[in-house]
Amino acid sequence: MTEIAENLEHVRAEIAEAAKKSGRSLDDIELVAISKTHEAEKVRAAFDAGQQLFGESRIQEARAKIPLLPSALRWHFVGRLQKNKIRHALPLFELFHSVDSLALARDMNRIADEEGLHPRVLLEVNVAGEGSKIGFSPDVLRAEMEALLELPRLTIEGLMTIPPLAAEAEASRRYFVALRELRDQFAAQFQMALPQLSMGMSGDFAVAIEEGATLVRVGTAIFGKRTPVRLRAENLE
Ligand SMILES: *Cc1c(COP(=O)(O)O)cnc(C)c1O
Repeated sequence: MTEIAENLEHVRAEIAEAAKKSGRSLDDIELVAISKTHEAEKVRAAFDAGQQLFGESRIQEARAKIPLLPSALRWHFVGRLQKNKIRHALPLFELFHSVDSLALARDMNRIADEEGLHPRVLLEVNVAGEGSKIGFSPDVLRAEMEALLELPRLTIEGLMTIPPLAAEAEASRRYFVALRELRDQFAAQFQMALPQLSMGMSGDFAVAIEEGATLVRVGTAIFGKRTPVRLRAENLE
């Protein structure tokens, strides 16, 4: 068994344990294997070990990697989407986790209209309220939700968050709870399901599942450490 297959087995076992612990069905939790910075060969090893859903965070990298892999793979985008990359990105990904402003949502809506596409999206929320972090603050999202829901080309399926870096998984719990509660408020206010909660990474996905995550985004625990971004050639282009 390859190391990646073993890692995947461990992650899946931990997901199953967290689901059981919180009385949730495994059918409601999907593992997104975050393959950013890892070469296609490693992605293929994960695919051969039964993983079909992958996440990327840079359009340039995804455009190079995706064509090298079987078409049975499914791709989610989890990074920061620049306006000039939207047209390339829309046909590549089945779900965009990280729509972080009304301006971006409007640009995606307009370009999707031109291209005849209907992107599925999540709204990224900065629940911790840190100044430097990307994402909607809860207050801004409350103010802009109605405008977001009016964009006819976008299907808003839920919320996503990245909590502040912490040594302990438990430190993330309150942010996961806050995201779920915000989702519940919107679902009630706008009479819609908003079923997806994208939360939890290598260090804290078990806690996220206990708090209702439907999509966990796990990179390092599957593929190992990433090369620091500043050393990568694509960054020098
Ligand atoms: C890189 C990344 C992940 C995966 O992080 P790990 O700690 O390696 O599991 C998850 N979500 C987003 C948005 C990322 O950019």
